[in-house]
Amino acid sequence: ADWEKQVRHSSTPRRASGFSILVTGAAGFVGSHCSLALKKRGDGVLGLDNFNKYYDPSLKRARQKLLSSHDIFIVEADLNDAELLAKLFSIVPFTHVLHLAAQAGVRYAMQNPQSYIKSNIAGFVTLLEVVKAADPQPAIVWASSSSVYGLNTENPFSESDRTDQPASLYAATKKAGEEIAHTYNHIYGLSMTGLRFFTVYGPWGRPDMAYFFFTKDLLQSKAINVYKTQDNKEVARDFTYIDDIVKGCVGALDTAEKSTGSGGKKRGPAQLRIYNLGNTSPVSVGKLVSILESLLNLKAKKNVIRMPRNGDVPYTHANVSLAYNDFGYKPSTDLSTGLRKFVKWYVSYYGIQPRVKSEAHKKNQA
Ligand code: NAD
Repeated sequence: ADWEKQVRHSSTPRRASGFSILVTGAAGFVGSHCSLALKKRGDGVLGLDNFNKYYDPSLKRARQKLLSSHDIFIVEADLNDAELLAKLFSIVPFTHVLHLAAQAGVRYAMQNPQSYIKSNIAGFVTLLEVVKAADPQPAIVWASSSSVYGLNTENPFSESDRTDQPASLYAATKKAGEEIAHTYNHIYGLSMTGLRFFTVYGPWGRPDMAYFFFTKDLLQSKAINVYKTQDNKEVARDFTYIDDIVKGCVGALDTAEKSTGSGGKKRGPAQLRIYNLGNTSPVSVGKLVSILESLLNLKAKKNVIRMPRNGDVPYTHANVSLAYNDFGYKPSTDLSTGLRKFVKWYVSYYGIQPRVKSEAHKKNQA
């Protein structure tokens, strides 16, 4: 097959030093950023992605092009293709898998529940079955989600808080992923590290997320829906900048123990870890809109809407002391700084001319 030739003949996945990492979901938002960062520091990186059409496929193709210009190849395949995965692991002795492929988004789960089961549960198990049989057995770092906290009312959220009230099917599949990881760790000695990401944003981000479509709506003078909870409180999120998430993923990879089994036989206990990766300072959606207004120099038309029961939770807020203690995770980008970088990328990617001249521009013209 074409991919096989590419993998065999490219130097991409193998390196004399450093790790050899399979990044699933490499054409996705977080996956593309992590792939580039790992490659830049000298690790061998190979991507895998099925390029599904959940959101604009041309954005995934553009990320693929960017990765390709850094000599990173993405195998176009589904996680559920066990045969292909087994072949891949027989060709490349991966030291790590960074598993980021998933059906994301909480609202879409009401339209297409099966896609969540297929990618986040069946696909995850397919991957773990292949890893279990691989020799050497790579350590696995995978994306869980802050959504597992569901309707938790602790503030901030710590890893030991209850996770038995998932508010969406997406959250339920992410929670199921954590249970499945426990099982594979326990039975087969796989080294498993789960990362609960909190609302990740930044350049090359996902068009289905609020900060992204608010920017689009603002630029097109469309009204923005700002949700409030049933008891009229503002919805708030612990928005986390992509570069901070990337640092967290790299830290988790660097501190992952080796798996202790091989070829499906358990040799001894291996690591199972779960960490929050957030920004530790929640911001209301109203404030998010006002930051975007000032960055774009535009005024939003807002519709304030009581939150329907659509899978969203009222707030998220990460306690990240566990990740700080274990691998020095320390978020360093505040929302205004991060959104400025996002907006800069957005207008350049979509070729948008700023419609309101900046003060500096006016002065230059005068
Ligand atoms: P994304 O949708 O941009 O990336 C996921 C990628 O996985 C996509 O490119 C998609 O084509 C691919 N994919 C999906 N199902 C697949 C399958 N069955 N086989 C092969 N490829 C498949 O999403 P993202 O924002 O980059 O998220 C990365 C991970 O982080 C996901 O696991 C997501 O659930 C998790 N997460 C993200 C956020 C966030 O705010 N972005 C928050 C919490 C958790």
